[in-house]
Amino acid sequence: MSDLQHPIQIADHPSQRALVEAYLNRVPVEPELGGSRIAELQAQIKALLIEKDAVIIAHYYTDPLIQALAEETGGTVSDSLEMARFGNNHRAQTLAVAGVKFMGETAKILTPEKRVLMPTLEATCSLDVGCPSVQFNAFCDQHPDRTVVVYANTSAAVKARADWVVTSSIALDVVDYLDGQGEKILWAPDKYLGAYVQKNTGADILMWDGSCIVHEEFKARGILDLKKVYPQAAILVHPESPESVVDIADVVGSTSQLIAAAETLPHEKLIVATDQGIFYKMQQAVPYKELLIAPTGGSGATCRSCANCPWMGMNNLENLLSCLQHGSNEVSVESSIGEQAMVSLGRMMDFNHRR
Ligand code: SF4
Repeated sequence: MSDLQHPIQIADHPSQRALVEAYLNRVPVEPELGGSRIAELQAQIKALLIEKDAVIIAHYYTDPLIQALAEETGGTVSDSLEMARFGNNHRAQTLAVAGVKFMGETAKILTPEKRVLMPTLEATCSLDVGCPSVQFNAFCDQHPDRTVVVYANTSAAVKARADWVVTSSIALDVVDYLDGQGEKILWAPDKYLGAYVQKNTGADILMWDGSCIVHEEFKARGILDLKKVYPQAAILVHPESPESVVDIADVVGSTSQLIAAAETLPHEKLIVATDQGIFYKMQQAVPYKELLIAPTGGSGATCRSCANCPWMGMNNLENLLSCLQHGSNEVSVESSIGEQAMVSLGRMMDFNHRR
């Protein structure tokens, strides 16, 4: 637990917000699909999955239509760690990864012999965009005494520089382990998850100044106002949210951990502070419970996402079909980068297997 021995240290370098904004402006608005078109697309995708020996690996934040198709066809809907594991273990020679770019890259690094396709290569993540490898390498060079731990939401090049990769489901355990070994940590890119980890492990952590544009829009005040209306509701929060939001949570956890908590908590109403895409699987797990979307923004807010990741939203049935049809949007990772990144990713996979 926190011993306040190590105050939170965020690196003093220019904000990467401008980079993130530039990417956001390129996110297209997706057209709505009609029922007959949906059925047509689903049938075509199912046939192609068989023909191309492919499987769908989808993140919880993607379109529920994609999540449902992944389930129906023997694929997976999961968090980034489980996505990586699934692709690694599945016999299919083509992995259709619906999510954001770093997820496709991770799949390719772990299984370089397989073909990894994505509905779009434009879907990225504010954490990835806000942590360019050149600046990150310079930051690491300035702190050679620190063990470099990066979140999975980073490019292959950033992972290649890291000693460890973690997901939100194992970040606490890995940093706690490293702290126990007497290691000082350089953490990137999410400062909120880093602060949560620091507070709960007491580790000496120097942080990169990055954030998730979806989770940082949750506001404690709005959630507490909702809680006044539903006083019996439990508050579930993803640790990429600001500290003030994490502090009022009944449960803090990764997407998988939040779904598990929804099942085990006795509460019949749940206020959920993470991307709305999770509601598909969470409601499936607890069909008898009422799920409430945690409010974002508020007066004067700058919300660009409103609990919907704009990049996850770029995945749809049309472009999923297209990548399978044409073998387009194949993910490639330069072999030298991939081999280096495999070291830090391998530690993540092995650490998890030990538990
Ligand atoms: S929800 Fe946040 S962390 Fe997840 S992909 Fe979108 S921007 Fe990145």
